Amino acid sequence: MRDPVRTGWDIHCHTVFSDGTETPRTLIVRAREAGLLGVAIADHDTTSGWGQARQAARRNGLPLLLGTEITAEDDDVSVHMLAFQFDPGEMHIARMFEATRAARIARTKRMVESISHDYPITWDDVLAQVREGDNTTIGRPHIADALVAAGVYATRSQAFGGIVSGTSRYYIPTPSPAADDVVRTVKRAGGVSVIAHPGDPSRNTTLLSDDQIERLVEQGLDGLEVWHRGNPPRQRMRLLRLAQRWNLLVTGGSDWHGSGKPNRLGENLTDEETVREIRRRGVLCDTTDMESRDGQ
Ligand code: AMP
Ligand code: FE
Ligand code: FE
Ligand code: ZN
Repeated sequence: MRDPVRTGWDIHCHTVFSDGTETPRTLIVRAREAGLLGVAIADHDTTSGWGQARQAARRNGLPLLLGTEITAEDDDVSVHMLAFQFDPGEMHIARMFEATRAARIARTKRMVESISHDYPITWDDVLAQVREGDNTTIGRPHIADALVAAGVYATRSQAFGGIVSGTSRYYIPTPSPAADDVVRTVKRAGGVSVIAHPGDPSRNTTLLSDDQIERLVEQGLDGLEVWHRGNPPRQRMRLLRLAQRWNLLVTGGSDWHGSGKPNRLGENLTDEETVREIRRRGVLCDTTDMESRDGQ
């Protein structure tokens, strides 16, 4: 017997505008081929891929959500916040992205400086891995790619298991805005906020506690990304319970990075009803709306 057809939206995808290896166009084409109902572009700390994604979505007739994965922290816990359907021109959110990208570059440069004492890479080698110039959010993945190009590692993931890992002696964290600030800023820009992979033990030694999540709910948090390969089964159960308690949206996404990570496009999904609710809450109603707004 054939498996029942299971499809939906993949609302956590990265492109060359941050640390994905494929363009927004390729994301849209692959999503269509895979039979997804729609996708969200969610590059780190930028909206600069939105224009290309919108154009490709229109050409291919694929529904699109516009998003970003925002780097944040809550006490010592690193938090990634997905934000959808906000106004990219809103001053506060635009400034926040600018500040984070500048902080990321400074920190990544310092890491490269320290790595270059022991391994044959320079800042120029890292920049050679950056595909969209100043529009790209630069980070550790680009250092990893430079180490691969220099022959130190065979793959990006191997570099993440070594020199660029969060436990390596070369590691420097990115100074990031507080998660509650991020929730409020997303709201002020008319967007919808969802904590990405909140139960992933590989990203943090301590996860966000129930109390920490509750405080973000009080600030206007909209949802939790439950369906993500980084959340182990027990964490998924916990997150579902919390979502029910506080009436939060439950989303899923692959965290696709093209060939930069093993995650497969569409491996985790968000149902259409939830996407409809995200669209209803966000200031951008749909892609057609955006086109008439900025004329692209
Ligand atoms: P950074 O934000 O600069 O500290 O870099 C961490 C980012 O690396 C995370 O957002 C991951 O998504 C990303 N990343 C990309 N490719 C990989 C990989 N192969 N293994 C681990 N992390 C990766
Ligand atoms: Fe990433
Ligand atoms: Fe993330
Ligand atoms: Zn991601």
